[in-house]
Amino acid sequence: MRPAERSYDRVVPRAAAEIDVPDVVTNAHHGLSAHEVVLLLETDRHRGLSRPEAAKRMARFGPNTLPDAPRAGWPMRLLRQLHNPLIYVLLVAGVVTAVLAEYVDSAVIFGVVVINALVGFVQESKAEAALEGLRSMVRTQARVVRDGGERTVPSDELVPGDLVLLDAGDKVPADLRLIQVAELRVNESALTGESAPVAKDEVVLPEGTPVSDRRNMAYSATLVTAGSGAGIVVATGAETEVGAIHRLVGAAEDLATPLTRKLSRFSRILTVGVLVLAAATFAVGYLRGQDAAEMFTAAIALAVGAIPEGLPAAVTITLAIGVSRMAKRRAVIRQLPAVETLGSTTVICSDKTGTLTENQMTVTTIWTPDGRFEVSGTGYAPTGTIGESSGATADSEQHQALRWTLLAGAACNDATLHRDDGRWTIVGDPTEGALLVAAAKAGLDRERIARLLPRVATIPFSSHRRYMATLHRDSGSASAADRVALVKGAVEQILDLCPTALRADGTTTPLDRDAVLTAADELAARGLRVLATAVRPTAAPAEFTVDSLAAGLIFTGLQAMLDPARSAVPIAVESCRSAGIAVKMITGDHAATAAAIATRIGLVDPRDDESALTGGELDALPPERFAETVDRTHVFARVSPEQKLRLVEALQARGHVVAMTGDGVNDAPALRQADIGVAMGAGGTEVAKDAADMVLIDDDFATIEAAVEEGRGVFDNLVKFITWTLPTNIGEGLVLLVAIAAGAALPILPTQILWINMTTAVALGLMLAFEPKEPAIMTRPPRDPGQPLMTGSLVLRTLLVSTLLVAGTWWLFEWELAHGASLAEARTAAVNLFVVVEAFYLFSCRSLTHSAWRIGLFSNPWITGGVALQAVGQVAITYLPVMNTVFDTAPIAVDSWLRIAAIAAVASAVVAVDKRLRRPSRSSGTTQSIE
Ligand code: ATP
Repeated sequence: MRPAERSYDRVVPRAAAEIDVPDVVTNAHHGLSAHEVVLLLETDRHRGLSRPEAAKRMARFGPNTLPDAPRAGWPMRLLRQLHNPLIYVLLVAGVVTAVLAEYVDSAVIFGVVVINALVGFVQESKAEAALEGLRSMVRTQARVVRDGGERTVPSDELVPGDLVLLDAGDKVPADLRLIQVAELRVNESALTGESAPVAKDEVVLPEGTPVSDRRNMAYSATLVTAGSGAGIVVATGAETEVGAIHRLVGAAEDLATPLTRKLSRFSRILTVGVLVLAAATFAVGYLRGQDAAEMFTAAIALAVGAIPEGLPAAVTITLAIGVSRMAKRRAVIRQLPAVETLGSTTVICSDKTGTLTENQMTVTTIWTPDGRFEVSGTGYAPTGTIGESSGATADSEQHQALRWTLLAGAACNDATLHRDDGRWTIVGDPTEGALLVAAAKAGLDRERIARLLPRVATIPFSSHRRYMATLHRDSGSASAADRVALVKGAVEQILDLCPTALRADGTTTPLDRDAVLTAADELAARGLRVLATAVRPTAAPAEFTVDSLAAGLIFTGLQAMLDPARSAVPIAVESCRSAGIAVKMITGDHAATAAAIATRIGLVDPRDDESALTGGELDALPPERFAETVDRTHVFARVSPEQKLRLVEALQARGHVVAMTGDGVNDAPALRQADIGVAMGAGGTEVAKDAADMVLIDDDFATIEAAVEEGRGVFDNLVKFITWTLPTNIGEGLVLLVAIAAGAALPILPTQILWINMTTAVALGLMLAFEPKEPAIMTRPPRDPGQPLMTGSLVLRTLLVSTLLVAGTWWLFEWELAHGASLAEARTAAVNLFVVVEAFYLFSCRSLTHSAWRIGLFSNPWITGGVALQAVGQVAITYLPVMNTVFDTAPIAVDSWLRIAAIAAVASAVVAVDKRLRRPSRSSGTTQSIE
């Protein structure tokens, strides 16, 4: 599409005429000044749009979403189901039998093709719809200013003219012309392929600047890796740059996972093997002088019967069911392979704040060198008092250290406090929210602080630096030093910058570092998060940078906040332990805080007195001891995102399958490296979500444990399906193979094999995908991901069941013939026996360890329904005249059914004994072995 067609007048309703708008208008915002863009889009660079205006524009431009990607239509997708070597074989066979005038056989073969294609089509569509549905569960949020107030809204509600705020970790929600930046860096690889972050600014650029060089623009779907900024929305939805790319490319959904690939390779090898065998059988029969056409259909039926063609479909549908079960438990899978990897997780590395704890901070204690204060009240309601140790209410106007501790906490702060329907909530970081609330309890509310100390510059918080700093005009100061720098952050970081401390009377004194550290340790040992604050009066600096802060800060005090552990976490930690999964806490917080919380949630045993390993200590470890120490340790504190990456690598080197949580921008490399990268849906950055395999909607650790449990369930169900399908398929092929090789009458005809194959795969086998998890699923060790598909016990089971099927069928067929049954009757009995044994065996496969009785015969309604459906089919093929004609069957008497039931019962008993004998002891049982 030519740029000029990109309907600029839709984006800018009227104002275009007021300004000399260049020809290629949508691409021209970078060539206009910020002021011109504001005029053009009829907005306000401070107050943003009004809500009614935003609503009007929404009605006009529609939501800020990308249109659905062009997708093949249903006839095409249905046809794609035929693109499979096995189907080609069947089609050829159908045509050949038709040419040979075997119309019934030909019709059955084409029937099989059509049913197969339909089942595949429905399953694929369902799996795709399930994955599609997940996308809407993780919606990008945007911070927008409307009517002068900051709000977080889903990014699809943005309209042209909106004033959007950006922060490190955000995904840019629409195309923006930047009007203000602070160290803003954006990773534009989604658009340009260039992965190095690009520095942004607001300057006007020449009109012809290519997209990749437009430093004053931020484009939808790119990621903010550092700094902050503000911009005006100039294009939304399909009009954005990424919208244009999306239209061209379309989205391709890949449903393949390592396991599905392994399985399709396995099926391909099996297909070739079985085809060779079928050809050999044909040759043997033909040479024996049997009818060529008959031998041909028999060989085809052998091939179709023996190849487990339902396998790939069953795997996809089992994975898709797993994905939606996980979504119900609030874990959204972004990469399908994660479903199976989850089941083999051996270590979960979790953040502390927000994952193990609520991330609902309340300041409870304030410490200054001249006194300690207790803060009453919980939650974000600014009601409560700040009391001295004597019990009297503290007067922050009189106590300068307390006053500046509160001011620094609340002014060096980007969160905002709101009251919605009587409930107090915050927008922004909960740590900062707690500091706002503490100051408000002393009468220092946001408006008052903004009047006292208007902010002029910011150095944003980063988990690397562990502090945030702001520069303010001090409206109360009459001296030349009318600016004041405020800093808040981790205690050790702040103390390094402070030679002096502030006294209650406003004078300064040399800093007693040990006293502060002792106080901080004592607060942290109670599980409180401790932040330090500092101030520095200054003349207007030429530039406000980290270097300009480096010396001369005055320490004011500590604020300690309570962040309760999430209620479900102790149980989830215990459940992981019994499942053989190690849980490690990896946090940026203080070592004592981390250790206290770890003990509280049962992650470490209080008797072990295990202390946390800090990032500094990690770096000091000799390389040869690094991996072993990491493997042994449960709590890691003051860890930087880079160290997180080293931790994952070390654990993987020890053979672990690692799930790692992360929320920040810098966590992305560790999330990618982990076997399962887990991002936070509520509190995490878009960058982290982008790098993750799974997103937790509620940020709760217990959700990871639930997802692991579901992952194990999914894998179990796959194993159950394979355990059911291989022996039955091989049995179907063998019946014909043995008969032809022996030159005997076929106990089951080719068309009958095709019937058994198609109906049982759909009505019986597929139902295993819906099997509920086994109750003891979290009491056994994790599965070894390197374990081969065909384990020894699966090979033995396949041999046993297929032998039982073939032997039982032969015996019954011969017995019926010997006792006066017609060939058609004997075959009908054999077909029914085959299906009944498969159905009995299905119940055995429902549990890997227990008998069908133990788990409740009817506890899976899908299985019950499937068996009922199959029974109707068997009655039809046995007694309906039309089916008798098509399938060469004949009605059989009740005593035949009794013999069928008896043989099936004996076969089931043999399988049950085998299962019992090979059941693993509780301590060594794993999902790997197929029981
Ligand atoms: P986790 O990794 O478990 O989520 P965390 O939230 O404590 O832990 P970071 O966000 O990296 O990790 O914080 C590290 C330290 O930086 C905190 O312990 C605190 O002292 C300090 N800190 C956190 N948030 C802020 C903030 N908004 N401003 C200043 N300092 C902060």
